[in-house]
Amino acid sequence: MILHHPEDEFLLSLAAGRLPAGQSVVVAAHVESCAACGARLRTLQAVGGALLERADPHPLSPGLLAATLRRIADAPPERPRPMPLPAGAPAGTSLPPGVAWPTSLRGCQVSPWRWVGPGRRFSRVRLPHEPGASLFLLSISPGRSLPRHRHQELELTQVLCGAFADGRAVFGPGDFDAAGSDVHHEPLVQPGSDCVCLTWVEGRLGFDGRIAAAVAHWVGI
Ligand SMILES: [Zn+2]
Repeated sequence: MILHHPEDEFLLSLAAGRLPAGQSVVVAAHVESCAACGARLRTLQAVGGALLERADPHPLSPGLLAATLRRIADAPPERPRPMPLPAGAPAGTSLPPGVAWPTSLRGCQVSPWRWVGPGRRFSRVRLPHEPGASLFLLSISPGRSLPRHRHQELELTQVLCGAFADGRAVFGPGDFDAAGSDVHHEPLVQPGSDCVCLTWVEGRLGFDGRIAAAVAHWVGI
């Protein structure tokens, strides 16, 4: 059962197409796995459409339609769509059996799993139109944790499988978390199965330990 959902501000921004690409991939990964947020998003999209329909019409300058059609005709051909996952995912980046790739990762490049400590693996996710976004997958074994850290700014996480607890709550499959700069935590994976999360970070993670900080610097988070 999904217990943790994105706030309406994320869903509203997603509906309006205003959410930065890295954040929208994580929020969309939640929405596609959560019937409640899927329904909420459709409602917000319908409200946005209704507001547009009721907006007062404004006169357009003469010749605008012709100029717009000309720009469309002159535009370069659309870039070919990247291969969808999982075809685009390297063989070394498999998810546990029965766990599906979020369709919001379609077109992203996913690097092979990289060992970043006992029971901990990391994979960089590159967005085609925002390659600098700090988006990654973390896979952590039961009983292991992501070392204690703070966030410079915001960290968004979608749990793809498994569960972790960090003193604030237990986050299980399908749960979403938005942790701000006030959160100082050490997510500990619960017994049972590996926990794989899709995470986007704004700014860098500040790890308490020197070894963890060095590993984070090495992988670039
Ligand atoms: Zn939800």
